Amino acid sequence: MKNCYCGADKSFESCCNPFIEGVQFPTSPEELMRSRYTAYVIQNANYLMATTHVSQRKHYSVSEILEWSKSNTWLKLEVITAHENRVEFKAYYLDEKLQAKLHHEHSTFQLENEKWFYLDGDFFN
Ligand SMILES: [Zn+2]
Repeated sequence: MKNCYCGADKSFESCCNPFIEGVQFPTSPEELMRSRYTAYVIQNANYLMATTHVSQRKHYSVSEILEWSKSNTWLKLEVITAHENRVEFKAYYLDEKLQAKLHHEHSTFQLENEKWFYLDGDFFN
């Protein structure tokens, strides 16, 4: 069995895919964060927009998210810490010039109508 794109020791079909397909909803910020990373890997910008809190969507566009997801090669996700509504993670990728890059973020999530949404993040690099 191949691990999910998010690196979890489960298949994509039993890990992030049900969230991305909207069949299930993430029950924790970490699950949402992992599925959002996976959405970058599989270039599903609509999922990324849909899981961004409605108050923040004006800062993003589906075409820009799609562009960003396509211009990079996503290598690996590392969840550093996850507690309450915060998740710290590192995403490793190659940019369009194939330079190795690290995206290190401390994200904040918000629960609304029993669903988790991405609110915003602090960036370390
Ligand atoms: Zn996953």
